[in-house]
Amino acid sequence: DSITIKRALLSVSDKSGLVPLGQRLAAAGVELVSTGGTAKALREAGLDVRDVSDLTGFPEMMDGRVKTLHPMVHGGLLAVRDNADHAGAMEAHGIGAIDLVVVNLYPFAQTAASGAERPEIIENIDIGGPSMVRSAAKNHAYVTIVTDPADYDMLIAELDNGDNATTLEFRKRMAAKAFSATATYDSMIASWFGFADQGEQFPETLPMVAKRGDTLRYGENPHQAAALYLPSGPAAGGIAQAEQLQGKALSYNNYNDADAALELVAEFADGPPTVVIVKHANPCGVATGETLLDAYNKALACDSVSAFGGIVACNRPLDAATAEAITSIFTEVVCAPDADDPARAVFAAKKNLRLLLTGDLPDAKRPGIMAKTIAGGWLIQSRDNGAVAEDDLKVVTKRAPSEQELKDCLFAWTVAKHVKSNAIVYAKDGQTAGIGAGQMNRRDSARIAFAKAQEAAETQGWAEPLTKGSAVASDAFFPFADGLMAAVEAGASAVIQPGGSIRDDEVIAAADEAGLAMVFTGMRHFRH
Ligand code: 5GP
Repeated sequence: DSITIKRALLSVSDKSGLVPLGQRLAAAGVELVSTGGTAKALREAGLDVRDVSDLTGFPEMMDGRVKTLHPMVHGGLLAVRDNADHAGAMEAHGIGAIDLVVVNLYPFAQTAASGAERPEIIENIDIGGPSMVRSAAKNHAYVTIVTDPADYDMLIAELDNGDNATTLEFRKRMAAKAFSATATYDSMIASWFGFADQGEQFPETLPMVAKRGDTLRYGENPHQAAALYLPSGPAAGGIAQAEQLQGKALSYNNYNDADAALELVAEFADGPPTVVIVKHANPCGVATGETLLDAYNKALACDSVSAFGGIVACNRPLDAATAEAITSIFTEVVCAPDADDPARAVFAAKKNLRLLLTGDLPDAKRPGIMAKTIAGGWLIQSRDNGAVAEDDLKVVTKRAPSEQELKDCLFAWTVAKHVKSNAIVYAKDGQTAGIGAGQMNRRDSARIAFAKAQEAAETQGWAEPLTKGSAVASDAFFPFADGLMAAVEAGASAVIQPGGSIRDDEVIAAADEAGLAMVFTGMRHFRH
């Protein structure tokens, strides 16, 4: 099973560690064959190198697009050495065996991330490199493939131990790594074509290779195993990339809830100080304020019962006053762009609280992918990055919303986008008044939202629930006028909803009758 290395082909973009490896191989009398840049680097170190163009009888051509794509190379890599037919072909065409391939690929991901122009990115799609990697890995029974400079030391140790030969076990391990490297490489290219290049979202270009992140203590329940996975391509932004400053490791549910909180607060990246409190992946209070503390207190007031054990996300760096308020009740996770030193000191006293810092908030409008499992498969869709602005709204009632109503409508609408369907959200003056989530019919969600607003008024000692004179958002159209009537009962004065029901006329008539202003968004935000 041991194969002695007599001839090595080296072709690397990342030249780190190349020279010491070349020296080690040359010292053992291994013949070195290389492509242009790699050969140059080895020669500069005083090593004897044969050009691959000398081996193939063809110059490297077409800007390097064609260097190693030749039977002299691939025959030497793919031949089954103890197959008489293969050996005959090698003999007939003068093809020499290649025992070791050291290749790493054109830096596609780095070039794409650097903001390079399209032609440069395309040029950095390595063709010959992955071909050699795959040929060598397929023929690992005879050929050793190394694709990562971090593995050179292991290769050298293998050669030291094995009298310049490698074991089958080592070659198999390196072959697995090689196929993983080419699969990752192609998935990055696929993602770039599907997302960055075309400015559109194609779920069929999901990066197929994910790398394993942390193993989580358990899943949604203690008897379920769980781990975090990350896409193979460049970091996509969002909760998976947040830095944890303190507290126990994040659990599966913590990730899920913190994700919901961060994605919602990111909608307000450019807005006034905003705080989101999430429980079980649904917001239970969202508010903007003069200060972050003000926003937190207003968000808490919406549903202080649910906020217990909640996840808090902020759109501004945390200060000490806000940290004090947050830690005065039991809070599982706090997520913010940053935290000043006094705030960090406040949190440090709460050892179990998980503090996550995100840096700049992720772009709410970025493209991306959402995956959901079903038994035996996955459902993949592009992120819901849809958003409506004031200009997109169509006034459908006799009365147009006032400026304040319009503001409240858009605020309620943005929150509703992040509430599980059926979602009904009441809001007033940049504060949620009542949130109804996840019911099987819209009327129940409306009822629950109002009941919560009444409970908040009771708890806070307000004269009337905040729903009085509020705006109400519905994540999908009202199929009947009854949902709207529930909003009227709650005292809402403005409505925002997608529209598009066959009974829109009935719903509009009911709104006109009650003197409500209603706008249609033309966009739905189901979230299941
Ligand atoms: P060098 O710096 O030695 O000139 O080029 C090394 C790079 O060329 C490696 O990243 C290798 O994967 C890549 N490469 C080797 N053969 C070919 C080929 O035939 N076509 C293309 N496009 N790239 C190749």
